[in-house]
Amino acid sequence: MRKKIIAGNWKMHKTIKEAEQFIEALNDLKTNPNTEAIVCAPFVYLQSLVEKTEGLEVSIAAQTMHFENEGAFTGEVSAPMLRDIGVSHVIIGHSERRQYFNETNESVNKKVLTAFAHNLIPIICVGESLQQREADETLTHIESQVKVALSDLTEEQVSKAIIAYEPIWAIGTGKTASSADANEVCTHIREVIKKYFSEDVANKVTIQYGGSVKPENIEELLSMSDIDGALVGGASLEAESFKKLVEAGNNAS
Ligand code: 13P
Repeated sequence: MRKKIIAGNWKMHKTIKEAEQFIEALNDLKTNPNTEAIVCAPFVYLQSLVEKTEGLEVSIAAQTMHFENEGAFTGEVSAPMLRDIGVSHVIIGHSERRQYFNETNESVNKKVLTAFAHNLIPIICVGESLQQREADETLTHIESQVKVALSDLTEEQVSKAIIAYEPIWAIGTGKTASSADANEVCTHIREVIKKYFSEDVANKVTIQYGGSVKPENIEELLSMSDIDGALVGGASLEAESFKKLVEAGNNAS
């Protein structure tokens, strides 16, 4: 049975004090064996949060990284650096990175390969724009994003990957995809993985939904056949709200 993985993406929010207070509020967080909780924090807080979450039932993730291991890339952070401080997961190819920082399917693929080479689990984001949805291009667009992102990965690596389906029009807008629409795309992602890898891999890969997820709508989303968790922005910023999202994961797993 696939786990339910609930990840909070703080994006560019919080001071160090707010970040640490959030983690302190997770002291009593309980996840059952089939649920995982992850907090994706800004680079500057990662080391402190990894230390503060020792013994807690939450993992710490970065929100991006470079695909090279080291070199003259001013301002960038590498996979070995993240592993060195105990980070376990990294978001790759978030639509905001694609839109504002020129990330492409090809750079996403390089980053995913590097992440696995350093034992980091990538949370690989895909999603269509409103224009693509209205032009009925959602499924073909998602297929090409997934295909390129996973190129040259082994079946074992794909089985361990987390794919987050985040329709761009649903991010930060308050507009959630209906659970049926979200599930349709997540089912399609599993079919694409079956086509390029195998049925066994398709059944193992974790597929999250993201886009205006909140405690009020997560339960229905998690009840769908192919949705294995959520990548949450706004509603993950308050500890109490994040705990409710994780609780929904516990109830659904
Ligand atoms: P919101 O939950 O704020 O819509 O953000 C979704 C997202 O982009 C998570 O990565």
